[in-house]
Amino acid sequence: MLTQNDEKLFVRQDWIGRMSFHAMSDREVMTEAVRRVTQARAKSQRNPIVILDLDSTLYEVRTRTHKILREWCDSKNSGAFPRARDRILQLEFEHLNYSIRDLFSFLDTSENHDAIFESIKNFWQPRFFTNDYLEADFAYPGAARWVQSLHELGAEIVYLTGRDEPGMGTGTRANLVRDGFPWDTGRTHLLLKKTFDEPDLDHKKNAAAWIQERGEVIASLENEPPNLIALAEAFPSAMNVFVETICSTHPAPIRSGFYRLKNFENWRS
Ligand SMILES: [Mg+2]
Repeated sequence: MLTQNDEKLFVRQDWIGRMSFHAMSDREVMTEAVRRVTQARAKSQRNPIVILDLDSTLYEVRTRTHKILREWCDSKNSGAFPRARDRILQLEFEHLNYSIRDLFSFLDTSENHDAIFESIKNFWQPRFFTNDYLEADFAYPGAARWVQSLHELGAEIVYLTGRDEPGMGTGTRANLVRDGFPWDTGRTHLLLKKTFDEPDLDHKKNAAAWIQERGEVIASLENEPPNLIALAEAFPSAMNVFVETICSTHPAPIRSGFYRLKNFENWRS
């Protein structure tokens, strides 16, 4: 536990366990968003807005890391760590968690963990945040169908992501098309960082100010607790939905009134 301005902050399962999410099924959460979009569309000339994060919210990205880890194993970089390499080669993408550090719960090896971490991180970093590797991602089953339903009902779709335009813009747009998400058909926006170095949270807070000018936010989906809390502060009347997939160890405070969604598979429009 950490504190910020005397407020207690929590990470991962500790944070999830303390949040009292609305007691609703995934399908009920998705249906409620549809209902709110429909209601807002009937009442107002302005488009209701739905904000969607990409990585680990709409998209499985552990497959991207898994591909890079395989390449590390095949490279000379892993030569000094044969036991770690053998262990990593046995892993499927489902075994991975959010970060490279999380790998070490699997590496039962006497090899130097700090040296392995440095080697993998130095190999992973210049690849993970690039167009070339985005092809390895896949959309969570049902996600595109649900977002299409919202769009067809008149929602304005804002993809709000920590990816950056120079490194990942082309691949991100290609995947939205490949995976059947609403894109380039009116009422769709992709808000990427202008540079890699801009902090994700700053980018999302700045984007929130731009979104506020455009209309009423109906729902916002995020897998990162601090981002979710920041968006909820900007859009307190929206459905703020925690997508429970994987997340970082960035700490967040406890709040009430949030929704939770584990997957989109039960969506039938
Ligand atoms: Mg994310």
